[in-house]
This record gives sequence, structure tokens and C-alpha cells, in this order.
Amino acid sequence: MPFRIIENQETMSEGEGNTGRTVDVAAKAGEEPQRPRSDSSGNASKIGGIPLRILNVAMIAVISVVAIVFLQAGQRIDASYNDFATATDRYVRCERAANQMLEGSHYLTSQCRLYAFTQNPTYLYNYFEEAVVTRSREDAVAVLEADTLGDVSHDYLDQSLTYSIQLMDYEYYAMRLVVEATGIEVGGNADILNSIELSAEDEALTDQEKVARARDILFGTTYQDFVVLIEDNVASCKDALISDISAERGASRSWLDRLLAFQRASTWVLLILVVLMIVSFIALILWPIRAHIQRMAENKSLSVVGAREIRVMAKEYNTLYEDNLKHNDQLRRKAEHDHMTSLLNRAVFEQLLHAYRDDPIALLLIDVDYFKDVNDTHGHDVGDAVLRKVSDLLTSTFRMTDYPCRIGGDEFAVIMTDMTPDLHPIVSSKLAVLADGMRDTSDGLPKTTLSVGVAFNDEEHDPQALFKHADEALYAVKEAGRDSCGFYQPDRG
Ligand code: GH3
Ligand code: MG
Repeated sequence: MPFRIIENQETMSEGEGNTGRTVDVAAKAGEEPQRPRSDSSGNASKIGGIPLRILNVAMIAVISVVAIVFLQAGQRIDASYNDFATATDRYVRCERAANQMLEGSHYLTSQCRLYAFTQNPTYLYNYFEEAVVTRSREDAVAVLEADTLGDVSHDYLDQSLTYSIQLMDYEYYAMRLVVEATGIEVGGNADILNSIELSAEDEALTDQEKVARARDILFGTTYQDFVVLIEDNVASCKDALISDISAERGASRSWLDRLLAFQRASTWVLLILVVLMIVSFIALILWPIRAHIQRMAENKSLSVVGAREIRVMAKEYNTLYEDNLKHNDQLRRKAEHDHMTSLLNRAVFEQLLHAYRDDPIALLLIDVDYFKDVNDTHGHDVGDAVLRKVSDLLTSTFRMTDYPCRIGGDEFAVIMTDMTPDLHPIVSSKLAVLADGMRDTSDGLPKTTLSVGVAFNDEEHDPQALFKHADEALYAVKEAGRDSCGFYQPDRG
């Protein structure tokens, strides 16, 4: 069938009850009709989809938690690094103090030995300057006491100080021997030597022997044993310091490693969240919007996909879209149909005639006889009712594939599709039914008759010629006295 017939009873207004035919002439011309193709389903409460608001809040909450954890881990890393650095600084200070202890002790040894060899009092005074004023050994112990990494290292250094102080007794005695030998008066810090008493045996020695005795003391086994003890204790102090710093730095390092691993994991989590955000943005917002823009451009309804808000928007659009299609259908229906009879109007009739110019059709032109008299005798309303009666009879008598039209005041036309001249008895029988119906007065309307001219489409495929032929046949019937039908005879002209 070349024409698409739309049964659209819902869109008919009151008084248009005799036909639901709508003709899509564009379809006959091969154009693709725009029909509603809604993908939406279900009602508004079943829209589904993740609401953007909730997604937004959830994303912000998760990212905030991860960011807070991330920042706290950063602070802990900072603290652990500070612990690590502080332990290192303390080790450096303590090691310097241990060295200072050894240097102080060695300095005293060197000064008193130099004094014993040279008898130069400068060394004596240097000795006491270090022992009484500078006190670098005591300072070293104080440093470890205040800043130690552990008790063991402090104890070793304290012990070395004890040995160093014990060693001073030998040094004092030796220096006293030298002072006695040289006879030089000493004052200031070295005054302390004046209180040292020599043994009777040493007192009896000559000056040279006293100096020799002093040297023997300072280079003797006992003295050397004390020096070794001091050095051993300082070395043990350093070993203890190394062990303490290793333990402390190890603890900080292990914390640091764990925190750095945690921060790496947090970074991955953040990265995954960002990727998730981007993916959900694309899947729930960007992609649906792009798809909607595409379908809007194609004048199609929208798919209800994506985030809840996008779905609601698509639903609303689809409702408007379908309303608009219905509205357009109604407008087109009004434009195509005669308001009073609801038959196709003259404009559509002409388009149909043109569209079917290559098809085997029969054109029937129907005119109410003496209709003017009906109006004059019974009034305009009865005249209208008679016209509607003609319309109803045309609609019910002809096939759905035929097109009854109102083309003028009391003029009607029917385009019968798939009709060839040899089928003219079918046309005659239908017109007989029509004539009987018009004569029937049981409906209260006056008896009226119809004159009909019929022509078949010939090889010329000329719609105007076809119309002219049917009109000539009608005219002939009118001329012959009306209430009849006439077929156009081509050979007769
Ligand atoms: P004929 O047999 O030669 O066709 O005579 P006729 O009286 O039918 O002549 P004509 O075709 O000239 O008259 C048609 C009349 O139809 C004239 C006009 O007033 C009337 N008419 C046209 N449209 C309407 C309408 O919508 N309603 C009514 N009631 N009358 C109409
Ligand atoms: Mg008439």
C-alpha cells in the first residue's frame, strides 16, 4: 500500500467521528516519517540511577577522609624524620664529648710530660689551665649526662674521668718533684702543687734524680696502665654510643619506612578515587549528555540513562517530545481534514491525485443534486446534516485503502486505489449502496440524490486530465437529469 493510514481516534475532536484516516503524503514521496520512538519506560518513581548529589557528597567525604589520613601520615613522617635527625645530632655531640674527654686527658699527659722534660713552667700553667679552668673532660661528662643516648655510654665516660682524675695524682706528684728540682716558685692554679708532700725517700733525692724520678712516674707502667684504662673506657663509650644510636635510628627508620609505605598506599587510593571520579563523570554525565545531544539533533526521544538528575531530565524531555508529536499530529490532522465532515480536504485530495498519478486508480466526483434547494427548503443545519450523511456513507461504503474527500461545498471525491476499468461493476455497486443510503429518510433527513462522474487513470499519468475526465462524466450525468453515475469513455472524448 503506497500510503500510510494512521488510525488516530484519540486525536479526533468532537464531530469528527466518521473517520480516523490520516494521510501521510510525505511517506508516498519516499521521505522518512518522524514518529515517536521513546526508549523511556516505567514511571518517575522507577527512574533509578545514582543521584549526583549523593555521589558528590560521597566522593567529597571519601576524598576528605583519605586526604586527612594522608596529611596525618605526612605529619608523622615529619616527626619520625625529626627523631631520626635529633638522634643523629645527639650522637655527633656525644661522640665529640667522648673525643673531648680523651683529648683533655692526653693534653694533661702531654703537658706534664713536657714539663718534666723541659722544666718550662709554661707547660705547668697550661696543665692547670686545662685541669682547673677549661675542664674539658668534666664538660664532656656533663654533655653525656645531659644529652646521653643511654646510661652505658655515660658510665663509661664517667669511669674514664675517674681514671683520669686518679692519674692526676701521679701527675701532681711528678710535677711537684720537678718544681722541687727546679726551685721555681709556682702560683695561681698551680699553687695546688705546693700542698703535695713528697715521700722522705724522694725528698732525699738530688734535683737531677727528682726530675728523673718524675719522668719515671710519667712513663711508668702504672701511669701507662691508667692511660690505657682511660682510652679503653672512652672507646667503650663510643661503642655504646654507636649501639644506642643504631637502636634509636633503627626505631625511627622502621617508623619512617612504615609511614612512607602507608603514604604510598594513600597516594594510590587517591589516584584510584580520582580515576573513579573521572569514569563516573564520563559514564553518568558526559556520555549521556553527548548521547542526548545526538538524539535531540536527530529529533528522537532520549534514552533514560546516566545519573538520576540526567534521567529525570531525559524523562521530562521525552514527555515534552511526545506531547509535541501528538500536538503536531493534531495540527496536521486539522490541516488535512475538512472540519465539518472530517473527510480529507481539497488540498490533500490534490496531493493524493498527484501522488497516485502512476497507479491504477479510479476517481469518483460526487455532487449532491439540487443541494441549494435542501438549504432553502429545510435550512442550513439540515443541509450540513445531509453533507455529513454523505460523508458517513462514503466512509462506510469504501475500503480503508480508498480516499473519500470533500473538495467543495456539496462536492465530494473518492480515489479508489487498485482499480482498473474492468472493475467498473464494483464501482457501480458501491455507488448503488450510496444512492440507497441517500434515499433512506429513516434518519429524518430529506431524500436526496447524488450525481457521480467516474474516470480511470490512463497511460498519460496526468492528474489534471484524470480530474477533467471525471468532471466531464459528472457534467454529463447532470445534463442527463442527475441521480446517476457516468463513466468517462476515452474513445468518446
Ligand atoms: P446541482 O444539482 O446543479 O448541483 O444543484 P445545486 O443546488 O447543488 O447547485 P450548487 O452546486 O450551485 O449549489 C451548492 C450549494 O451548496 C450552494 C451553497 O450554498 C451550498 N453550500 C456550500 N457549502 C455548504 C455548507 O457547508 N453547508 C450548507 N448547508 N450548504 C452549503
Ligand atoms: Mg450540487
